[in-house]
Amino acid sequence: MVAFFSEDELHDMVLKMDAVEETIFANGLARLKKPVLPLVNMVQFLYLTGPFATMDEVISRLTKSVELEGVVFENPQEMLRPYTAYLQEFEVLKGKKRLSVSLPFIINEKQEPVAKRQALELWIKQQILSQELETINSMLCEPCGCVLCCTGPNSEFDESSGFKGEMKQRFFEIPLTESEIDLFPIDRVDTSQSRTMTAHSEPSLRIGQKLFYRHDMALYHWRTGWSLILPEGAACPHLLADTRKCRVYAERPAVCRKPQIFAYVLEKTADVAKRSDGAAIPVHMARNKVLAIWDCLYVRKFQDAIGSYVEMSGLEPVFKKSKT
Ligand code: SF4
Ligand code: SF4
Repeated sequence: MVAFFSEDELHDMVLKMDAVEETIFANGLARLKKPVLPLVNMVQFLYLTGPFATMDEVISRLTKSVELEGVVFENPQEMLRPYTAYLQEFEVLKGKKRLSVSLPFIINEKQEPVAKRQALELWIKQQILSQELETINSMLCEPCGCVLCCTGPNSEFDESSGFKGEMKQRFFEIPLTESEIDLFPIDRVDTSQSRTMTAHSEPSLRIGQKLFYRHDMALYHWRTGWSLILPEGAACPHLLADTRKCRVYAERPAVCRKPQIFAYVLEKTADVAKRSDGAAIPVHMARNKVLAIWDCLYVRKFQDAIGSYVEMSGLEPVFKKSKT
């Protein structure tokens, strides 16, 4: 075997690569080091135990940096600002306002209903964490140059996206809302049969002689709504092959904005509960976790930083493989 580089040269190259990575991921890593939930816990505590009528009164007092769990938050007001509307929901607890949303019915892992105050707290944390993780995901995903989320299994992009080996799945599904389907000018399958099934029904939907995922990429109308089905080897029609960028990035579907690090404070179950006024409301289970999908390049790369972020947020990290 011919040695192209000495051990020292290789070591230097790795150090330089690490330095480049530190730069291109700097914004995302900085956000992982300073999660917002410790600040949320602090203002919640101050609001509930202090003489404050509104959450704004608490936040307006935060004019100096604060140190929590050994981390200095230089400008807590600025960090909390994007989440003000959610924080104001805490005012319900002092009778200062009515909830502006309908909360799901929340149970714990023993299937017992949780108290109203805890339910509100869990719901607010789920919303704030989801919003924060959406931002962090975008900051970490873009520099990766990975397009696993935009392609079907076993596409030509897999190896350069960091995935090795053959995936067992025969298709990937990108759920879409009714208002997003016009973004994809491709064939649609909307039949009485497709509407009674899901993409994962057994046996699978057949079109003609073939299983649906043996056909070309198309939009399907299922019982659960619309989705884009990317069969093996396919790529989303908006993925630009040369630059590996999304052609419709600014208007991309909501699911394409979702992080590969998911807020899992609450999990929606298949159950429905009846409210006192007779309305049917979804049942969510308190999980108090953050789920990170191991197939994602930046999840693997920054596992430790993600673990610390989750623990500082007072939650449990769970790393899970999705594409097998
Ligand atoms: S719309 Fe854009 S982000 Fe979403 S799958 Fe297609 S290329 Fe990827
Ligand atoms: S797997 Fe991760 S890095 Fe790759 S496209 Fe999806 S979010 Fe981005």
